[in-house]
Amino acid sequence: MSWRDAMCGELTASEAGRRVKLAGWANARRDHGGLVFIDLRDHTGVVQLVVRPETLPVAHDVRNEFVLQAEGDVVKRAPEAVNPNIATGEVEVQVETLRILSRSEPLPFQIGDESVDEVLRLRYRYLDMRSDRMQRNLRLNHSIINAIRRTMDDLGFVDVWTPSMTKGTPEGARDFLVPVRLQPGTFYALAQSPQLFKQLCMIGGLDRYYQIATCWRDEDLRADRQFEFRQLDLEMSFVEREDVLDVLERCMVASFEAAGRKPPARPFARMSYAEAMARYGTDKPDLRFGLEIEDATERTRGSQFGVFANAPVVRYLVAPRAFSRSELDRLEEIAKEWGAKGLAYLVRDGDEIRSPIAKFLSEEELAAFAGGSGTTTLFAAGDEALVARVLGGLRTHLGRELELARDDVDVLHWVVDFPLFEWDEDNARWTFMHHPFTAPMAGHEEFEDDPGSALSQHYDLIWNGWELGSGSVRIHDAAVQQAVFRVMGLGEEEQQAKFGFLLDALKMGAPPHGGFAAGIDRVVALMAGEPDIRQVIAFPKVASGSDPLTGAPTTMPDGVLRELGIRSIVNPKAE
Ligand code: ASP
Repeated sequence: MSWRDAMCGELTASEAGRRVKLAGWANARRDHGGLVFIDLRDHTGVVQLVVRPETLPVAHDVRNEFVLQAEGDVVKRAPEAVNPNIATGEVEVQVETLRILSRSEPLPFQIGDESVDEVLRLRYRYLDMRSDRMQRNLRLNHSIINAIRRTMDDLGFVDVWTPSMTKGTPEGARDFLVPVRLQPGTFYALAQSPQLFKQLCMIGGLDRYYQIATCWRDEDLRADRQFEFRQLDLEMSFVEREDVLDVLERCMVASFEAAGRKPPARPFARMSYAEAMARYGTDKPDLRFGLEIEDATERTRGSQFGVFANAPVVRYLVAPRAFSRSELDRLEEIAKEWGAKGLAYLVRDGDEIRSPIAKFLSEEELAAFAGGSGTTTLFAAGDEALVARVLGGLRTHLGRELELARDDVDVLHWVVDFPLFEWDEDNARWTFMHHPFTAPMAGHEEFEDDPGSALSQHYDLIWNGWELGSGSVRIHDAAVQQAVFRVMGLGEEEQQAKFGFLLDALKMGAPPHGGFAAGIDRVVALMAGEPDIRQVIAFPKVASGSDPLTGAPTTMPDGVLRELGIRSIVNPKAE
């Protein structure tokens, strides 16, 4: 016996006269006593059933979200009964048999109600999943992954599975640990990425590797971050940066096509890290709007305003609005969150300039920095990094607040030429900017003498201000790899303990290679127009790190911990 021989959402006028068997959920019901109308829903859509309870009294029992099976004839509706809002609105099904396959208690919320609290939606994700939104998003996720797989296959990439349980992979996050019962006191780390395994695949001669890889990172959860997420992870041998970028651009174009959207033109623009920081104050600028940062350092060298005269760097941006006092207070708070001590500004309203610092500035300075009428110039002064952070933070905020970004355009672009190292204030030492396997740029091989000025062959892909992923050309020479470890302060012994297996491999015929990883959930969320990646993941976790559906994480009985050689020193209830 088959449960069904037709799908609800596919019944159109051309099917009139057909006998169909349908199965699905009661989306809505209208009981008129002598006639019961039921909107039956499956994943393709909704169709109206017309049931006569005098022959099918069970129709009176049906409630929303009951699972039903119905058999009957597709008939055209009378013209005045046509519902133009649904695809099946020209027809209905005159039901002759109706079975309740499964009953439902009243639901905690109505399917598809957008006002429902997200935690409640996640607590009952299987109900939320019945909504058009979640159905659309999960299917879009599938289509995009399929399109990427086809592209990778066409380009000769081999899908290789790499272990989840491994040794720590430094991607800048904390590891999730897995205790090993057979060796109490020892732990696997869940892979932050397949980074080293994919490099080993290149040394193994695979030439082109890819994987839709699950990665685990113990970081604070945000709109674009989950503990576990999927990446399109790839690696290629005998390539330069441009070869890798070309593959990614093809995958992005295929993803746009799979989502039914106009793909961006290739090649995507390339911008250096230094330029991104100077013009936009961030390494992931949203280029759908301008609001560029301007430099004032040279022009304020001799300023009467001491803050400007003495700062190593002075920059500003001109916002297209004459802000009020209270709006400026709010902007100052934001600037302070990014590390500024205060916020100097010039508001231009008609001919008037409102500003507490105007009296310290010369006529030339005012003329140079004040914008046209209806604008506000916002300044930041200090060291280069601080100025970038503050103005970058303000720019992003204003972009959102003043709705500067057009939402009918997509800007995908590359940021390239990143620094190889950055200074780690907390530990007072150099550390890698992305991961320690990134190759220095040609001409920057002598990085040990001056790590801070060395550039790398790292690149990021940015879409409307979201970082979609990162990659690099890698180090394929053990001596260079060891030099990077040395700059990071890893002695010979520690290098061997942590990365001895990699150093061995690099000494046994490692080809030049490079790769990339792109966050699939981010791509899908942007493609779906969703504000965060939880909306495109079937069972995500919330910001506190919990899973509202299962109630995980949970404590473990002492016996289980003892077997693993673990003793808990916290009582989560008391925390
Ligand atoms: N392993 C890096 C990451 O997961 C990407 C790469 O360099 O290929 O971010």
